[in-house]
Amino acid sequence: MIQSLLIANRGEIACRVIRTARELGIRTVAVYSDADADALHVREADEAVHIGPSAVRESYLVGEKIIAAAKQTGAEAIHPGYGFLSENAAFAQAVKDAGLIWVGPNPSSITAMGLKDAAKTLMAAAGVPVTPGYMGANQEPAFLAEEAAKIGYPVLIKAVAGGGGKGMRLVEAPADFVDALASCKREAASSFGNDHVLIEKYIASPRHIEVQVFGDSHGNVVHLFERDCSLQRRHQKVIEEAPAPGMDSATREALCAAAVRAARAVDYVGAGTIEFIADGSGKLSADRIWFMEMNTRLQVEHPVTEEITGVDLVEWQLRVASGEALPMSQEDLTIDGWAMEARLYAEDPAKGFLPSIGKLELLEFGEAEGGRIDTGVYQGAEVSPFYDPMIAKVIAWGEDREEARERLGEMLEDSAVWPVRTNASFLVKALQHPDFAAGKVDTGLIGRDGEAMAEAPRPSDEVLEAAANSLVPVRALPGFRLNAAPAQSAWFSLDGEKVEIALTGEGSEEPDDAVLVTEQGQAWLLTPWRRDGVHGGADGSGAILAPMPGKVIAVAVAEGQAVTKGQKLLTLEAMKMEHTLTAPFDGVVAELNAVTGAQIQVDALLARVEPTEA
Ligand code: ADP
Ligand code: ADP
Ligand code: MG
Repeated sequence: MIQSLLIANRGEIACRVIRTARELGIRTVAVYSDADADALHVREADEAVHIGPSAVRESYLVGEKIIAAAKQTGAEAIHPGYGFLSENAAFAQAVKDAGLIWVGPNPSSITAMGLKDAAKTLMAAAGVPVTPGYMGANQEPAFLAEEAAKIGYPVLIKAVAGGGGKGMRLVEAPADFVDALASCKREAASSFGNDHVLIEKYIASPRHIEVQVFGDSHGNVVHLFERDCSLQRRHQKVIEEAPAPGMDSATREALCAAAVRAARAVDYVGAGTIEFIADGSGKLSADRIWFMEMNTRLQVEHPVTEEITGVDLVEWQLRVASGEALPMSQEDLTIDGWAMEARLYAEDPAKGFLPSIGKLELLEFGEAEGGRIDTGVYQGAEVSPFYDPMIAKVIAWGEDREEARERLGEMLEDSAVWPVRTNASFLVKALQHPDFAAGKVDTGLIGRDGEAMAEAPRPSDEVLEAAANSLVPVRALPGFRLNAAPAQSAWFSLDGEKVEIALTGEGSEEPDDAVLVTEQGQAWLLTPWRRDGVHGGADGSGAILAPMPGKVIAVAVAEGQAVTKGQKLLTLEAMKMEHTLTAPFDGVVAELNAVTGAQIQVDALLARVEPTEA
């Protein structure tokens, strides 16, 4: 067994690999960029090597630096994770040439499956059904248009070098073909440095079903059943599960046998995934499921397979890379229950799913029986703009699909992240969609019904009223009479938005200055409106008051400086969180009392902005 391992990746997958390596007594080495100096994978590894600036092209994608880091630390093997260099045959070869163990398939297998057209040709020859289409070398637009007509519309144009859901165009009618082809080729050239495309029949009501395969260096190949990844947004997976809903054992056997044939055709060693596209318009049947591509690495969604089989796929990877035979035979592998995974992202569905970067001041994950969290961040860590903004994979196991679905929903609803926005409520609504709940998912579901799922969540009245109650003093309100309807309400700031909340409780003896309201997987900061310095002088005076007691940690302006509405004035640290106070309108900093390092009381006048004359 290998004794030491360098993980050429970051985030949750680096942490995932470190966890198993540690269990096996293997010494771990992390690599990190500038932006990741304090990242979780660096903290969890036994050793860490800095490999350069934050941009991936200068750090995580530079093979020489990674191999040098392995040499420098005496690591015997390199695990590439997913993404980055994981499917780069030249890097895999360079690792081997440097005398290190590559935790992955032979470079020749990666190359054989690297381009979608060559892979499909190879698979067809091996007797694996492939999606009907044109996968040849002729790239003449007129010729490709003819092929598209022969295949029959709708068709999908795919970059042969594509990945991550990029470089694809659905074409519904012949009139749109030439433009779609040109735009697909442009994207392919800029994203993948290769503008070759193939044309495929677009499968009606498509379902994405993939099979986990595993090979060793002794000629054994097994499968670990299928996963269904049909809930997608723009060809990217959102929720995955295993097994696939509606899969009968005859279809499963045929599909998994085809996957094993595919793996054998490229002498596959290690963990791999054969992705198929299935016609989901009727019952699943083997003659309407076609090979799409092979991913020659560990997959993001591998945990759902682990949860239903009890196998640690990373452990198998490390054993196989050490030259051991597969720990189990096909007959030993069985499916137990159901597992579902949701990809929790730092993004704002209500703003077109834009990444939401910044510090994770609050980070809590919901718990459930059978629950598992694979994460690469911690409370206080930064979601940086440089990398994929995934916060965690939230995974739930249950005796059956319904139990897994309910548990996953609970875990997401009980999570809380602030001030970074997440897709938690989007995921919860997707789980609750009647078609998803019934196991009737095709890849177009979010495209059709996703708008309602993407709406910004709001905390419920009950939760807001309870939170507001902790911010107001015990009632001695003027006009408060016994037996009168409790008609009082007050203004509050909910993450900066002015909201009116009914005062239904008794108030608090020692009211808080601010409270984090958590619901639906999200959190909001609630403060009394009058104290909300962010809105500096709701009274229009431009007075910037401290919304709560704390410490000034940065002052971004000088007295007399001209500022524009929304410009950052200063940063406070309070309740272990950072709060940025901004200019309420265009003007000049007429008064500045805040000094970096100073402790301040609530309502302290930190600065005053005088409006610019209109
Ligand atoms: P999976 O089935 O494992 O989700 P994907 O094709 O979505 O496979 O890729 C897995 C991860 O690898 C993505 O989340 C992304 O980080 C990375 N990745 C793969 N291909 C690309 C690409 N072409 N460009 C950018 N990132 C990619
Ligand atoms: P990538 O390398 O980007 O993962 P894939 O070939 O795996 O590319 O396709 C990504 C997704 O696009 C699939 O999961 C599926 O949703 C959709 N897709 C791909 N091929 C087809 C097809 N022939 N018909 C319908 N949908 C397809
Ligand atoms: Mg794919």
